[in-house]
Amino acid sequence: MKKSFYITTPIYYPSAKLHIGHAYCTTLCDVLARYHRLKGDDTYFLTGSDEHGMKIEKNAALNNKSPQEFVDEIVVGFKKLWKALDISNDDYIRTTEKRHVETVQKIFSYFLKNNDIYLGEYEGWYCKECEAFWTDIQVGEEHLCPDCHRPVSKAKEEAYFFKTSKYLDDLLKIYDSNEKFITPESRKNEMINTFIKPGLEDLCVSRTSFSWGIPVKENPKHVIYVWLDALVNYISALGYLQKDDTLFKKFWLNDNCEKVHVLGADITRFHAIYWPMFLKALNLPLPNREFVHGLLMTKDGKMSKSKGNTIDPYPLIEEYGVDAVRYYLAREVNFGSDGQFTPEQFVERINMDLANNIGNLLNRTLSMINKYYDGVIPQFISNINNPYDSDLDQTIINSVKEYEECLNDLRVTDALIAATKIGARANKYIDETTPWVLAKQEDKTPLQSVMTHLAYSLYVSAVLLSIVLTRKSKEILLQLGLDGNINYETILNQHILDNVKINKGLPLFPRLDETIEVEKIKQMMNIK
Ligand SMILES: [Zn+2]
Repeated sequence: MKKSFYITTPIYYPSAKLHIGHAYCTTLCDVLARYHRLKGDDTYFLTGSDEHGMKIEKNAALNNKSPQEFVDEIVVGFKKLWKALDISNDDYIRTTEKRHVETVQKIFSYFLKNNDIYLGEYEGWYCKECEAFWTDIQVGEEHLCPDCHRPVSKAKEEAYFFKTSKYLDDLLKIYDSNEKFITPESRKNEMINTFIKPGLEDLCVSRTSFSWGIPVKENPKHVIYVWLDALVNYISALGYLQKDDTLFKKFWLNDNCEKVHVLGADITRFHAIYWPMFLKALNLPLPNREFVHGLLMTKDGKMSKSKGNTIDPYPLIEEYGVDAVRYYLAREVNFGSDGQFTPEQFVERINMDLANNIGNLLNRTLSMINKYYDGVIPQFISNINNPYDSDLDQTIINSVKEYEECLNDLRVTDALIAATKIGARANKYIDETTPWVLAKQEDKTPLQSVMTHLAYSLYVSAVLLSIVLTRKSKEILLQLGLDGNINYETILNQHILDNVKINKGLPLFPRLDETIEVEKIKQMMNIK
């Protein structure tokens, strides 16, 4: 049966401008979605925005706007950034859309009817910033929010509660039966030790202190807690409880569909504890994996608007192109760990992997094919007297295999390391085989094997990297004389370029002068 793949980003909160950290997470999801499409899997990629809550209501008022006007404007900016980054999402869900609002209300009503939600009164430590109640143990003696570390205060309100106790055993079973449900594993342990072991309270799922949210149909002075609202986006976007639920059946209810949520560490609790419980209460399948990505930070720590250290991706895209920015994001930070953005590393990464590796290989190879073969790639042959041929052949086969294994396990960085091994090996192969010496020999077979091996290495590199280099990969194929369409099925066909006329163009990734470019980036980012 055909495999399916459903991947989601977190839905972003429209309170501040998106920075390179958001671009990082969305790019990783995009790379994974493109990989599955390339492999021929039925793929669906969702992103969106989380548009309710007290903070939005306040920010809108500060800007003399209605909350709806306020979020409408910000969402335009979100969509523009994803377009600039070549993000290939199939849908964009906004939690203020009718389709979403209705689904959330239906779910809430269903929970009420099934006694999963009850009306009670809550008194507890409340963090206004996180809109969350905490227990005595969690706020500690200093009464600080365990999430944002701001002071909390005692608060009391009539509220609806979700019975977490009813689903706690189910949750622990999920953790036990699927060891990759939350990865990296440290995140799972954090959930158990920080939140579950100290005793999980019933979750307060309504608010009366503000009105910008989805009203509880049965009791409209309550609005539904933003997290119950927001998490539902993953299924409301597929049409759950709506007239047309084709996508929901095709992706969420399909056992052959791998469902992956990618999220940041700060929202793990909601995804790893409450979301599985909600799904259990709805009697729906769970996602297969929740992947917690690391943070992309600057030298002075986590990027935040208040610190003024956020990095805007636009100037980088304008100056170095979308391929370079996507490549940097996907390659530099190991998926799951934290990483640091520095101008030096940005320039070095582009020079090392794109200019020296693939760009250089393309340039050298096409120049030689022009010179020795009048610009037509000869028929692929292997020279049994040349040990380097079989070594390069093996490198290609191994790299493709490793690339697939890594991507099937969501390890984008490792997959790119595997893909770029081919270019590195091929560049070395030029030095080992010295084609300029072979060209002087009467027997042209050795030269032919070298030229065709190089051209084929470029072909495989371009196909593998196409999930990241959305534009330059096509350019590589065009320069090789192909039509620019990427076809994964032919990746191991060594004869794909036989008798093809090349079309050498400008260098793809000119080498950057480190001193000049680092200074330029520092100025444009306003960093020291
Ligand atoms: Zn807080």
